[in-house]
Amino acid sequence: MRILVQKFGGSSLTTVESRDRVIKHIQREQGEGYSVVVVVSAMGRLGDPYATDTLLQLVQSEQEPLSARELDLLLCCGETISAMTLCAALKSAGIKAVAFTGAGAGITTDNEYGKAKIKKINPERVLAALEDGNVVVITGFQGMTEQGETVTLGRGGSDTSAAALGAALAAETVDIYTDVSGVLTADPRIVEGAKSLSVVSYAEISNMAREGAKVIHPRAVEIAKQARVALRIRSTFNDEPGTLVQDESFSGNEEQLMDRHVTGIAHFKGLTQLIVTDPNEQGEMPLKVFQTMAEQAISVDFIHVTPSKASFTIFDSDAERAMKYLHQIGFEPQLRKGCAKISVIGGGMNGQPGIMASIVAALSSESIPIMQSADSNTTIWLLVSEERMEDAVRALHYKFELYK
Ligand code: ADP
Ligand code: MG
Repeated sequence: MRILVQKFGGSSLTTVESRDRVIKHIQREQGEGYSVVVVVSAMGRLGDPYATDTLLQLVQSEQEPLSARELDLLLCCGETISAMTLCAALKSAGIKAVAFTGAGAGITTDNEYGKAKIKKINPERVLAALEDGNVVVITGFQGMTEQGETVTLGRGGSDTSAAALGAALAAETVDIYTDVSGVLTADPRIVEGAKSLSVVSYAEISNMAREGAKVIHPRAVEIAKQARVALRIRSTFNDEPGTLVQDESFSGNEEQLMDRHVTGIAHFKGLTQLIVTDPNEQGEMPLKVFQTMAEQAISVDFIHVTPSKASFTIFDSDAERAMKYLHQIGFEPQLRKGCAKISVIGGGMNGQPGIMASIVAALSSESIPIMQSADSNTTIWLLVSEERMEDAVRALHYKFELYK
């Protein structure tokens, strides 16, 4: 059996017309000889009747909140509705189909409600249904604990379901269908001329995803990479091949992958920068500061330490707590809310002369101050103010000629 996993995001399943497009993609691949497994997200976005955020809103105004366990029982309904709706449409189109929940598909997770991790998949029932000639429709985003509790996998969790099923079923490829034509050089909502990339490496897309490009969940990339399952990101609304994700070590794509220093620009906002100074330079300040952050499970980024000064960023949502505990140990941090992180992501940037110069030139020509920067072999990170984030993304996209 040649197995193909197709994952369809919320915007691909909202209307009868879009579900018809989904069915066309399924039929085309069946015609190519594939046994098809379809993983679905909940339909639509906030405001649409069965979207995850709409379900969440149903209970948000209650005085007594649901437990995390009960919340998961509510949230998993979106995918169930979506899967059964698609399954019905497939049957009506004369295509043999069967639907499973995450649990039914054999997905076992850990016990973390709201952000469960897949521990193992027993693919027997899915394989049997495929052998029987069915298209197998599976609810994304869900799993079951060893105790039999239904859990959800967190935002973007359907991508993870699809990749994990692809790995467990030894699928040839996992196709992530969405509302854009592939992995783009930047978020198309910010950069009008963002271009679809035909091939990216696992490392490039994983960096893009981790740094805020919403197009795929980073965990899904990790799973596919480990299992050496090829990934494609493509549009539900056209028949273009989209973006193929492969390793440099797969033959055939080396040239496309190696020949670029900058692949794309990613961004996210909602960061607070903290600067702690120790006028006495006792040398113990950084230790105390970061130990406190660790004890409070506050994750830190953009760290820069000297004996008298420690600066770092945290999420805005952690700012109040961080300030409270730093005050408690006697520090008066300087706080700057409303920061954004921009990532310039490439294949091999280390030792490439001129990349930082181009970044600085692009941002200073727009009078955008860089509050801090950091770099690795594959990424240069920039901290800028939230108000200038979009201008900065556009300026960098233009400077590196990513529209070409
Ligand atoms: P789905 O519901 O299909 O999972 P998502 O909203 O999670 O869709 O992800 C697709 C969206 O990701 C696109 O509509 C696009 O606006 C956004 N996006 C952000 N950065 C990128 C990027 N670099 N390439 C492609 N899409 C991106
Ligand atoms: Mg998504």
